[in-house]
Amino acid sequence: MAYDPNNIFARILRGEIPNTTVYEDEHVLAFRDINPLTPTHVLVIPKGPYVDYDQFAAEASDAEIAALVRAVGKIARAEGVAEAGYRVLTNCGADAHQEVPHFHVHLFGGERLGHMLPKQMKAK
Ligand code: 5GP
Repeated sequence: MAYDPNNIFARILRGEIPNTTVYEDEHVLAFRDINPLTPTHVLVIPKGPYVDYDQFAAEASDAEIAALVRAVGKIARAEGVAEAGYRVLTNCGADAHQEVPHFHVHLFGGERLGHMLPKQMKAK
């Protein structure tokens, strides 16, 4: 799929839509999910135009990949969830019900999260 420069996260990156930023560096922006599913629900995105995990893994530079992975850890520690535990999740493509076509990682924490894929998370 070609990258859509008008997707909502591209617009957030351009400052056209407000967000609650929790972390930013050269390669990464992280902000609170507008519809949080857990007390801590942060979206961590690369600044580069990658549609999904598949494209990011194949085409991003080592520096971009390292920055994103390290950012998730930094944010988890800053949010105070690293000790109790947290979940990192990315939806890639239609079967995973990815809604926004700009690669993003969800960071969930702040409460007991239950099993990895409870039945109610599965789409019909
Ligand atoms: P996906 O299903 O693509 O993995 O997740 C997309 C996420 O983006 C959802 O959790 C949704 O709540 C969040 N989201 C969608 N639009 C916005 C927005 O404009 N601002 C923020 N902060 N989050 C958004």
